Amino acid sequence: MAVETQMQDLTDEQRAICDMVRRFADEQIIPNAGRYDSEDVFPEPIVQQMKELGLFGVTIPEEYDGLGLDLTTYAMIVEQLSRGWISISGIVNTHFIGSYLLMKFGTEEQKRTYLPRMATGEIRAAFSLSEPECGSDVQAIKTTAKRVGDDYEISGQKMWVTNGLLSSLVFTLAKTDPAAEPRHTGMTCFICVKEPGASENPGLIVPPKIHKLGYKGVESTELVFDGYRTPADSILGGEQAGLGRGFSQMMDALELGRVNVAARGVGIAQRALELALRYSQQRKAFGKEIAQHQAIQFKLADMATQVDAARLLTLRAARLKDAGERSDIEAGMAKLFASEAGRYCVEESLRIHGGYGYSKEYEIERLYRDAPLLLIGEGTSEIQRMVIGRKLLQRHKI
Ligand SMILES: Cc1cc2nc3c(=O)[nH]c(=O)nc-3n(C[C@H](O)[C@H](O)[C@H](O)COP(=O)(O)OP(=O)(O)OC[C@H]3O[C@@H](n4cnc5c(N)ncnc54)[C@H](O)[C@@H]3O)c2cc1C
Repeated sequence: MAVETQMQDLTDEQRAICDMVRRFADEQIIPNAGRYDSEDVFPEPIVQQMKELGLFGVTIPEEYDGLGLDLTTYAMIVEQLSRGWISISGIVNTHFIGSYLLMKFGTEEQKRTYLPRMATGEIRAAFSLSEPECGSDVQAIKTTAKRVGDDYEISGQKMWVTNGLLSSLVFTLAKTDPAAEPRHTGMTCFICVKEPGASENPGLIVPPKIHKLGYKGVESTELVFDGYRTPADSILGGEQAGLGRGFSQMMDALELGRVNVAARGVGIAQRALELALRYSQQRKAFGKEIAQHQAIQFKLADMATQVDAARLLTLRAARLKDAGERSDIEAGMAKLFASEAGRYCVEESLRIHGGYGYSKEYEIERLYRDAPLLLIGEGTSEIQRMVIGRKLLQRHKI
């Protein structure tokens, strides 16, 4: 059911790519997502096809074997993948953040070593800030990295690492100077290499995956570092440029990640709307299709308005970033609005489905369990409001 508002200002390339990924979602993701969700297994055949389509290298420059596309096009792709199933967009999300970190801050050697293999999806990346005792307050992390000879030794526990088991690279934030003031100056990002799929690596254990409400199929794990050795040149950007720079590097990547989560919110909201439009024209109550009751039409109208507003905010943030303009407020607004729009539309669609919405036979039940993640990852709604408020005051200081 094609109910997406037609965007007039897409390039021919963007239109062709969106059509291709939408078809892929309709034919390969949506018909299979329910099964992968109920079994909570990694959707390997879908991921293989994504590799063939080049979807792991969308934003990686052509000189490193990627497609070299911009963030705006990437956001459009993510919307389509998420419309299919947000776990699929989760599989590329941390990978995309990792490739951005390398492209923006990596040494030439780090780029040459990892980016071409990341572009094909041969190796995938995870991104690890959160710990058992802190997520929003990133500067409170306790994981440390100490210089030992030519290496650093990392010890500490990480939490909620998306792609934690199957990734080969983990961009890991650790404290190299726990006494530093301000705290962020003592934090460094390491490119930690591990065996994909191995729960035990020298100095690094990946415990069994965390069981979640939704967002199944893609694994979320803890990572237990205990004397994990990594060479000094695994510091993102090299030791000289990267030591003590980890916090600002990760925050920069998170700003981009917010556009990405916003696109996921648009995708899930769009799908919830499609399901509601279809069901409300099939179900009859009081002698007519429920879509003919004004109360249901109002719900559809509010959902469609939220979807369009979320999409426009997301594309504005992406386009500003692509143009090299400041987009911190806009990325925060897009993430805040689109993730809340995702939750809102999914709940309204579930209500329209009545009792059937509560049944696992209907797709909306999965969306209802998946949507809340977007309110949490890449900064909660409360944290987005803090960021937007703080930056607003900076921009409009009197
Ligand atoms: C499925 C899943 C996947 C994830 N993937 C990753 C990943 O790949 N990598 C990674 O590093 N992390 C990941 N996370 C972690 C995620 O980023 C954190 O859960 C999130 O940042 C919130 O941190 P927290 O859970 O510690 O909550 P807390 O920071 O403890 O917050 C708890 C509550 O307090 C509120 N709060 C906190 N501080 C303030 C404040 N100053 N003012 C007002 N309210 C406040 C929060 O908004 C929230 O409502 C993932 C989480 C989930 C659930």
